[in-house]
Amino acid sequence: MPLHRYVPVHSPCKLCGDGFEHAATAGAASLAECPRCGQPVQRAAAESVHALKLSARSTVSRAKDAGFALLKRTSDGHFEKQ
Ligand SMILES: [Zn+2]
Repeated sequence: MPLHRYVPVHSPCKLCGDGFEHAATAGAASLAECPRCGQPVQRAAAESVHALKLSARSTVSRAKDAGFALLKRTSDGHFEKQ
C-alpha cells in the first residue's frame, strides 16, 4: 500500500503543518481535502517525496501531535499501526 504525500494548498495547515502522508488504499481516489481540518490539499510530486525523506522523522512526530494514526513499514514490507 503506497503512501502518498499531500501538501495544503493554502499552507501552512494548522493541524498538519507543511503536509502529511496518507496511505492510499486500492481504488480510492486521491484526497481533495485535509482529513483533519478540511482545507484543500494536493498530491505532492514524487520528487518531493524523495526530497522529504530526510525530514521524515520530524514529519512523523508532527503528524502524531495532530492525532494521525500512523502506519509504520515493517522489515517484511507490511504496514502496522505505531
Ligand atoms: Zn490539515
